[in-house]
Amino acid sequence: MDRYLIGNGIVVTLGEQNQVIHDGAVLVERGAVADVGPTAELVRRHGLPVSLDARGKTVLPGFICAHHHLYSTMARGFAPPGPPAYTFGEILERLWWRLDRALSREDVRASALVPLIDCIKNGTTTILDHHASPACRDGSLDVIAEAVLESGIRASLCYEVSDRNVPGAGVEENDRFLRRLAAAPSPFLHGMVGIHASFTVSDETLAKCRAVAERHGVGCHIHVAEGVEDHQDSLAKYGFRTVERLVKRGIGGERSLFIHCINIDERELELIRESGTTVVHNPESNMNNAVGVSPVLELLGKGVLVGLGTDGMASDMPAQMRCAYLLHRLAKRDPRVAFVEAPTLLLWNNATIANRFFPVRLGVIAKGAAADLAILDYQPPTRLGAENFLGHFIFGMVDAPVDTTIVGGRVLMQNKRLTTLDEEKVAALTRGLAAEMWKRF
Ligand SMILES: [Zn+2]
Repeated sequence: MDRYLIGNGIVVTLGEQNQVIHDGAVLVERGAVADVGPTAELVRRHGLPVSLDARGKTVLPGFICAHHHLYSTMARGFAPPGPPAYTFGEILERLWWRLDRALSREDVRASALVPLIDCIKNGTTTILDHHASPACRDGSLDVIAEAVLESGIRASLCYEVSDRNVPGAGVEENDRFLRRLAAAPSPFLHGMVGIHASFTVSDETLAKCRAVAERHGVGCHIHVAEGVEDHQDSLAKYGFRTVERLVKRGIGGERSLFIHCINIDERELELIRESGTTVVHNPESNMNNAVGVSPVLELLGKGVLVGLGTDGMASDMPAQMRCAYLLHRLAKRDPRVAFVEAPTLLLWNNATIANRFFPVRLGVIAKGAAADLAILDYQPPTRLGAENFLGHFIFGMVDAPVDTTIVGGRVLMQNKRLTTLDEEKVAALTRGLAAEMWKRF
C-alpha cells in the first residue's frame, strides 16, 4: 500500500502543538504522513475511502526508546551461579560480562529478534541500541542491522567499547559500521560510537573513540555514573568525577548520550548543561539494579534534554514512562511532581533526540513527518482533549493494548498480528540457542 487512509479514530498528533482530533484520519503516502484531520474532510479532499479503520482506537506517533540492549534476551529466566550479586559491580561481573562473552553470531541475531518483536507489539518504532558481544564483535552490528531491517523498525546502533577483555576492543567495529552507513545510508539505520562506561576505558581508548566519532560527525553513547564504581574509579585514577573526566576528554556534547547519570554532583550537573549533552533515564533498570534515583527533575530544571530508555529490560515505553512518573513522586515524597515531566521525557524529548539522528521527522503526526504510528485500543471513558491528554496517557493509554504498528508507512502489525517476523519461530529458535549458551556461560 503506497497510499492509504487511516480513519475513524482519535488522532493525537503530539509535536509542538499537540492536537486531539476526534473521528480523525491520517493519509499515508510513500512512507510519510501526507495529511491529517477529520475523517470526513480527508475522504472528501483526497477521494479515498478509509482502508485502515481505527474506530474505537487512538492513533499516536510510534514510541521511541532512547536506550536499549537487544543482546540481553537470553538473560531471561537465567540464574547465574553463585550467591546473589549485591553491588552493581557484582551484577556486571557475575551476569552481564559473562553473558555478553558467551554470545555467538547466531545468538546475537536471535537475541535481537525477540525484543524487536516486543518493540512492534508495544508500538515502539525507533530504538537507540547499545551492543556488546566480545566473542562475536567484528560484524556484529551488521547482524543486528539485518535483524532491524527485517523487523521494519528504525534503530541507532553502536558497539560498546571497553578495555575489560582487550584494550580498545570495539573501536574498529563502530568505525566499520559508520563507514558502511556513510557508503549506503538508510532512513532506518543510524550509527554512534558506543562506549561501555568511564570505569572500563583508559584515556587512550577514549581518545580513539572520540576520533572515530569526530571523523563521522556522530556522538558517543555511554553509561555514566550508574553505580558508585564509576566516580570512585574516575576520582582514584584521574582526580575528577566521571562527567568531568568525560567532558574534558571530549566525550559529550549535543550528539552524545550520557545514560543514567545517577551518582552525579552539582558540578557534574552543570557540566552536562554547559556541554549540551543529552541524558537518558532508565527508571525500571535503576530500580532493578538498586543503584539509586537519577536527579532527572533537577536536570530538566537546568534545561538539560533528558530522554527515556529501558536499558534492555523491556520494550514497552508507556510502562517505562509510568515507572518514571511513580519513581520521582515517591523519591521526592511530592505528588505535585513528574506529571508533566515523565510523559515529556517519552513523548517530546525522545522525539527531539531521534530527530537529531534520523533523516526523517519522527515523534509527530504532521504533514511530511514519517508515517511511524502506534494505534492503541483506547476509548476514553471521560472527555479527552489536548488540555487533559496527559491524564489519559498516564492513567489510561499506558495500559491500552497496541493493535497496529506502522513504520515508514509499512504495517508491521495489524489487529495484533505481526506481518514481518514470526514470533513462534523466533521464540523456538532462541530457546534452543539459549539452552546451549547457558551451558557455555
Ligand atoms: Zn544500558
